[in-house]
Amino acid sequence: MITITPYGAAGDVTGSAYLVETENANVLVDFGMFQGDKDDEGRNVIPGRIHRMKIDAVILTHAHLDHCGRLPLLVREGYRGAIRATAATKDLAGIILRDAAHIQEGDYKRRLRHAQKRGHKVSRSDEPLFDSEDVDRTMNLFREVGYNHTTNIASGITAVFREAGHMLGSTSVELYVGERKIVFSGDVGPPNLPFLKDPDPPTSADVVFLESTYGDRDHKSLTATLDEFANVLSTAIKVGGKVFIPSFAIGRSQQILFHLAEFIREGRIPRIPIFLDSPMAISASLVYDDHTKLYDTESSELSKQKQWDADLETLRYCETADESRAINDLSGPFVVIAGAGMCNAGRILHHLRKNIDDPTAHIVIVGYQSRGSLGRYLVDGAQTVTIMGERKQVQARIHTLGGFSAHAGQTDLLTWLAPMVHSKPQIYLTHGEDDARTILQQQIQERFNCSSYLPVYAEHLAVDKE
Ligand SMILES: [Zn+2]
Repeated sequence: MITITPYGAAGDVTGSAYLVETENANVLVDFGMFQGDKDDEGRNVIPGRIHRMKIDAVILTHAHLDHCGRLPLLVREGYRGAIRATAATKDLAGIILRDAAHIQEGDYKRRLRHAQKRGHKVSRSDEPLFDSEDVDRTMNLFREVGYNHTTNIASGITAVFREAGHMLGSTSVELYVGERKIVFSGDVGPPNLPFLKDPDPPTSADVVFLESTYGDRDHKSLTATLDEFANVLSTAIKVGGKVFIPSFAIGRSQQILFHLAEFIREGRIPRIPIFLDSPMAISASLVYDDHTKLYDTESSELSKQKQWDADLETLRYCETADESRAINDLSGPFVVIAGAGMCNAGRILHHLRKNIDDPTAHIVIVGYQSRGSLGRYLVDGAQTVTIMGERKQVQARIHTLGGFSAHAGQTDLLTWLAPMVHSKPQIYLTHGEDDARTILQQQIQERFNCSSYLPVYAEHLAVDKE
């Protein structure tokens, strides 16, 4: 008897976690953080059932915080087993978890100071979920796995990790328990993402857990998005305008640099100064450099020929705050890529405070902006915004480019599933909001004549296929 229980990303897109229980072992596949509003943060706990049992092994599909963010809690509670992941996932998870610990430690210190001033005590719920020491202990448990060969996970359980094409090191996992083959898609990428090989779906399955983030739609075409991006750059360059790109440090920043290099190589834009103004994005770029073996053929060739060094001759890494501030004194044209991706923190705030009322400046939004974030207000066309306590007129031009995504669109998800449907698997749709899951469920029914199921949080799913 095998039971699988999702403890997150069941009806929403964060907190990915599956508990796999067999007669011989208990294994977690991902143990991610819930991200979003305050209510979500309260869900960042170890569920009682997991708390009460011995976990024998952990598998991590990829490094994003919503897949690995609860691992330090598990380690704090005494977990000392292996965390199996690819080498690139380990490196990127290290960056992401350390950053998350720093943010929480910083928040806690602020709350502590605030409380002390008023003679209050800080409540237990204000304490950081985990700190840097918990992260260090977590990182020591990582055991690297390679792609496409069988790895022992726990008693009676083996796994094969396949390319998911979603971020560097990302995997889909085939879990073998006795005769049963259980597939976890992890997050699946669209084909043709820069650097990454295309997703490599399994060719059979008894059970499939499929992500459905964009189960309801396809993305805008990348070609159209790139044309729009090149046009914005050309317009800015003509008048000496400054271009600011709020960007997530890992994945998106490297993708934007890839396209800038391509524009320069193809003569679509001249060589202008480009600043990668984010220590975290710089660290991530260095991890990319360490794992060129994972690149697809095109990127691998460009890397071997040192083509990027030539294209991006004008790229500067801004490690320190002084280097970041020095950008203020420069006149355009130039491009700044800085975090945070939704303009809710980080160095991008300083740049926007200085430049948002400059009608020759351009702000290019290249990623998802959640409700309530400064980035979302800009996307929604706000005329005035408050940045670091200052009320500012929005005079810079705001561009929202919709075609960059590290997630498969609906058609890509169906293409990913197609090689498995002949084996008539039980299909569970997770990691998607209910609207997206329901539409994908209809598509799977229409296209493959297969039923699929939308599990909820903590629902015990029995693997019963003979
Ligand atoms: Zn992801």
